[in-house]
Amino acid sequence: MTMESPMNVDLHCHSQVSDGLLAPDELVARAHRNGVDVLALTDHDEVGGLVQAAEAARTLGMRFVPGVEISVTWAGDTVHIVGLRIDPDDARLVEGLRETRSGRERRGREMAEQLAAVGIPGAFEGALAHVGNPQLISRTHFARFLVEQGVCRDVSDVFENYLVEGKPGYVPMRWAALSDAVDWILGAGGVAVIAHPGRYHYTPLQFHALYDEFLQLGGRGIEVVTGSHTPEQYREYAEVAKRYGFLASRGSDFHAPSESRIDLGRLPPLPAHLTPIWGEWF
Ligand code: AMP
Ligand code: MN
Ligand code: MN
Ligand code: MN
Repeated sequence: MTMESPMNVDLHCHSQVSDGLLAPDELVARAHRNGVDVLALTDHDEVGGLVQAAEAARTLGMRFVPGVEISVTWAGDTVHIVGLRIDPDDARLVEGLRETRSGRERRGREMAEQLAAVGIPGAFEGALAHVGNPQLISRTHFARFLVEQGVCRDVSDVFENYLVEGKPGYVPMRWAALSDAVDWILGAGGVAVIAHPGRYHYTPLQFHALYDEFLQLGGRGIEVVTGSHTPEQYREYAEVAKRYGFLASRGSDFHAPSESRIDLGRLPPLPAHLTPIWGEWF
């Protein structure tokens, strides 16, 4: 490894065990082809893909980090917390994730009722046809159904006109508490990271309170370079990382070849002045 070619580390992506389109082993193979040196699989509220992914990575001689992305409700809004280097068999983590997933089916049925009321019938069954894991029905699966039906042009179009606050198909959810999510991750031997902060609609004061509380709970990391951020936001959250003493993470948040703007391992490197979260792992 030289200064000119930092390790290609991608610590955030999804398989069909949550709302990605590829099987865990296909995802790992794609990352390897793209030159990724270290990959974390971080399915939403699920660790069910980690065994297959780790095995595929071992066969290819690629470093693999077991991860998860936990859905959290904080100050009335959804925040995603990524856990890295977790023990996927940790009993409290497993139980916490099971509970976090448990409201998804009922929510899906309510989403479908709302969509039916605006003239789009059959959305629950339609979304289910795209689901790889019946315990994890997500808005992404509804989005794929709406595209398939020709209701929307693509998945981003869906999230502008449906399934979000104020639009048909939006059902508010109470996800895990921030303190619980961080506890589960730390209890499973992992490190907790605030995912894609640029996506949250908090006031500056709320952001400050979120960072503060997260650090007090033992959270350590923040995603700076992610597929959800603009280059402007790379700079903004690099500043945040420095100001609050966060370790910086990099992750594509790749879901599908046809849907994701950024492919596995294809993000720019972390700004050089930051401390990478993987700095002491290898
Ligand atoms: P859920 O956990 O069921 O609420 O679904 C959240 C998922 O929806 C995220 O992880 C993304 O994969 C997807 N999503 C949310 N907003 C957008 C968006 N604007 N464009 C594309 N996908 C989105
Ligand atoms: Mn997703
Ligand atoms: Mn997320
Ligand atoms: Mn994600």
